[in-house]
Amino acid sequence: MTVRAGRQFLAIPGPTVIPDEVLSAMHRPAIDIYSGELLGITDSLMRDLPMLFGTKGRAYIYISNGHGAWEGALTNVLSRGDKILVLESGRFAAGWGDFAARLGVEVETLNAGWRRAVRADEVEARLKKDTKGEIKAILVTQVDTASGVGNDIEAIGKAIKAANHKALFMVDVVASLGCVPFEMDAWGVDVAVAGSQKGLMTPPGLGFAAANDRAREVHKNAGLRTPYWDWTSRDGEMHYNRYAGTAPMHLMFGLRQALNMLFEEKLDNVFARHKLLADAVRAAVGKWSEGQALTFNIEEADERSNTVTTVLMKDPKQLTAFREFCNTKCGVVIGAGIGDLTGKAFRIAHMGHVNAPMVLGTLGVAEVALNALDIPHGAGGTEAAIKSLGASVAA
Ligand SMILES: *Cc1c(COP(=O)(O)O)cnc(C)c1O
Repeated sequence: MTVRAGRQFLAIPGPTVIPDEVLSAMHRPAIDIYSGELLGITDSLMRDLPMLFGTKGRAYIYISNGHGAWEGALTNVLSRGDKILVLESGRFAAGWGDFAARLGVEVETLNAGWRRAVRADEVEARLKKDTKGEIKAILVTQVDTASGVGNDIEAIGKAIKAANHKALFMVDVVASLGCVPFEMDAWGVDVAVAGSQKGLMTPPGLGFAAANDRAREVHKNAGLRTPYWDWTSRDGEMHYNRYAGTAPMHLMFGLRQALNMLFEEKLDNVFARHKLLADAVRAAVGKWSEGQALTFNIEEADERSNTVTTVLMKDPKQLTAFREFCNTKCGVVIGAGIGDLTGKAFRIAHMGHVNAPMVLGTLGVAEVALNALDIPHGAGGTEAAIKSLGASVAA
């Protein structure tokens, strides 16, 4: 017996649920890439994306996923033999650093491990030792989608300033842009990268970079520049230059609609919605943890991200059965653990086009699975989520 007919709930941390309005906006014939409507859409995206990043700098749109945006950012500001510092707190900063290493950049890693956030004081201490200014860039993710950590980018920016260090501050906001506050200029971030398919609710296929004046100055002498990613050629006269070729118009139609929806809801409300829904998930997981079979991956409550919750499960067989039950019996796809947490964790995404019924439905099904499979857990997790939302939404 299954109860899975009806709309499937996709609760993985990317790609996320695509709103019907975004899908509909893409359902149209191709249009001219040299004149007319598309030029206006590009102008509006080039105006709105920097606003979303919180910068007076420029944005660049690539036909790529987040990995492409990583490579694009690195090649625009670094040279072979440069040294960079990677601040790891899970999987994704290391992945970005690995791309840098393969481009011939020397990578040093400051590893916070998988269960806590990057600590700003440790960054400051390391940078103060770099008296010769050998470190050219610092890489970190705002949310690491594998560990579920939310790093304090503002605090790390302050630490870099306190150390009086000149390295470029480069931040991966793939799993956080449009979900939690990000203030590139105010926090001292020079380069930020994102993708279309997580908080921005658009199909995979667009990678974004934002760069401030300082980054664009460093860019002038960067040795790793290549034609497709190059900011200078993308700044060229023609619309065609913006994309180094044919514009990804259908993804742009979708993105335009997604941004309209975010602005209509108002960003402050979007961020508050993510926080309240994340609180609800954490209320449930907190209760379930009392059974000792599962627990939060991130140990400190205030270091858990508002876009994804990573939950460790002791027994790998129970873990497989749990995710399988949620999907095949109830139509909810729960994220698997990745990297060091492969076979050890599941992930519940609460990112992008999510609302109370989707989150409560996902938690309810998770609890159905815990009960059905006799996995030890504290009772009343979903009820705790309901109470959390009842209190916070009323306020
Ligand atoms: C998903 C993700 C990426 C990689 O994006 P792809 O589009 O899968 O290449 C990079 N960084 C973070 C934090 C992510 O969550």
